[in-house]
Amino acid sequence: TATFGPNVRFQEPMSRHTSLRVGGPADVYVAPKEKSDLVVLVRWLQENSLPYFIVGNGTNLLVLDKGIRGIVISMKRCLTDIQHKALDKENVVVTSGTAARLNTLCKYASGNRFKGMNFALGIPGTVGGAIFMNAGTDHGSMADVITAVVVLSPDGEPVRIKKHALQFRYRRLDLKEHPGVGGMQNPIILEGEFRLSVSDKHEIEKEASAIIQKRSTMQPLHQKSAGCFFKNPATGKSAGELIDLAGLKGKRIGDAQVSTTHANFIINKDRATAADILELKDLIQEAVLTSFNVTLEPEVKIVGT
Ligand SMILES: Cc1cc2nc3c(=O)[nH]c(=O)nc-3n(C[C@H](O)[C@H](O)[C@H](O)COP(=O)(O)OP(=O)(O)OC[C@H]3O[C@@H](n4cnc5c(N)ncnc54)[C@H](O)[C@@H]3O)c2cc1C
Repeated sequence: TATFGPNVRFQEPMSRHTSLRVGGPADVYVAPKEKSDLVVLVRWLQENSLPYFIVGNGTNLLVLDKGIRGIVISMKRCLTDIQHKALDKENVVVTSGTAARLNTLCKYASGNRFKGMNFALGIPGTVGGAIFMNAGTDHGSMADVITAVVVLSPDGEPVRIKKHALQFRYRRLDLKEHPGVGGMQNPIILEGEFRLSVSDKHEIEKEASAIIQKRSTMQPLHQKSAGCFFKNPATGKSAGELIDLAGLKGKRIGDAQVSTTHANFIINKDRATAADILELKDLIQEAVLTSFNVTLEPEVKIVGT
């Protein structure tokens, strides 16, 4: 408490830190502001073998009703800098701290005439969360633009890992196996490096407004959700189409509801519990399996007890 002052809280409701506005208390919630504080914290956690979990902007999380045992480290405030350097006349490398919002990075890129980040416009996470999730859309994903990530080693040193050594998959990045993170239970991303190309500002802005417009008509952006709840199956119809065809749009359990705008969004109408959302998730999975013989896998991370 002496080091973190008001940035450490006990029994902190995770519903305050997730876009679904659901989740019981974290035993301890720490939001380091400085990298040096984060390093002290991580060394201490490693030395004492204490359980911890990393949270970015909480936009891809379903935290269960009894909350999270151990320490939650919020990466929402620590490391927000964005910079760039030219590689040659046509290409640049943009470096972003983990806590920068993805939208801020997209706007930084378009404002400097750098093409390549528009796919991520409107994704409400942090850069670190987006890298960890390999966030993306039909227009691309983080894996397409990233050239390296910097993670924290167990003894608190930054380790730079180049793209060729990163295992990006659909909506996830496997970092645990990399020797640089030394088997840490939850590797911590500090920074991402992105290769973008110099382009025409007008063209980038035109593409950006089409992407934003499409998102605003297709997604329930003003309701409490964690984005698409299920991953799309590798082939065939999307998860949203399957849920829609199973007749589940608008299906409600307690205050958890399948969005009527986009069937792959589960929304919290007001006071949904994680239990309501889990029950609805199970019902959707069962219905889609019965009707189409497809097993839907959650994209949202379900954490806690
Ligand atoms: C309205 C809405 C629309 C969305 N649209 C999209 C979309 O189009 N495409 C898409 O892919 N996603 C979408 N999402 C989901 C979500 O925004 C993304 O997955 C986002 O990248 C998550 O970032 P976050 O900072 O909120 O991460 P969190 O939800 O806080 O965490 C997600 C995971 O990342 C880990 N993590 C977070 N930060 C770090 C870090 N610094 N180091 C290591 N691990 C970390 C966490 O431990 C957790 O496992 C949407 C969500 C909403 C609410």
